[in-house]
Amino acid sequence: MLKITDLTATVGDKPILKGLSLEVPAGEVHAIMGPNGAGKSTLAYVLGGRPGYEVTGGSVEFDGADLFEMEPHERAAAGLFLGFQYPVEIPGVSMLQFLREGLNAMRRERGEEELSGADFIKRARGQADALGLKADMLKRPVNVGFSGGEKKRAEMVQMGIMDPKFAVLDETDSGLDIDALKAVGEGINSIMRQPDKGVLLITHYQRLLNHVRPDKVHVLSDGRIVKTGGPELAEALEAEGYAEVLA
Ligand code: ADP
Ligand code: MG
Ligand code: MG
Repeated sequence: MLKITDLTATVGDKPILKGLSLEVPAGEVHAIMGPNGAGKSTLAYVLGGRPGYEVTGGSVEFDGADLFEMEPHERAAAGLFLGFQYPVEIPGVSMLQFLREGLNAMRRERGEEELSGADFIKRARGQADALGLKADMLKRPVNVGFSGGEKKRAEMVQMGIMDPKFAVLDETDSGLDIDALKAVGEGINSIMRQPDKGVLLITHYQRLLNHVRPDKVHVLSDGRIVKTGGPELAEALEAEGYAEVLA
């Protein structure tokens, strides 16, 4: 479903990704772990098409199409969802307005009809309920004054509403308490653990992987995947550290 081949990318002329290859078949959840500065977030930004992250070589095939031939909004319409470590705050725009505009923009791009206000609110409330986000949070400005846990639950609500084919989640677990971690894990499982979907879960810690059991774990170091294993690899990394496991 997502096939990355020999990907190289620079940020401000500095090479960050240095020949990264990785394949996530439909129905699987893969985790990427790696030391600070390895290029994990850069990979997520490159997949999303963020300006300033220049692809200098290699290819990414998403659901049979060339990802780099698509604009960022086309990637979203094709079913790619990106969740980032530091969600943006948007004063003056409510969660409901933001989510509805995002969903309808995607539906227009796909040539689908927009959802009516009533249908949308029903869908948003259902997702919020399922993820333990209080319904009145949906009326508040996007992420403004949200706790770390509320921001991540809000991001999972967004993911549930967009119902993507593939999610790339960058450190969705950072700064979460135990309950929020569990809620996020359950959200990922219920929304994305399906035979026709896939997930790339970028994380520093093993703890989210106790809730979302990955099919494979990859270690990203200095811009490349240097080791791949099963869930036991994450446990070994947590117990022994990168230096020991990669030695
Ligand atoms: P990770 O997420 O694995 O911690 P990043 O992808 O954030 O790593 O960063 C990889 C490298 O790229 C680091 O050396 C970082 O300093 C550099 N880098 C990332 N973004 C930028 C940027 N916008 N400008 C300059 N350097 C950057
Ligand atoms: Mg980092
Ligand atoms: Mg990062």
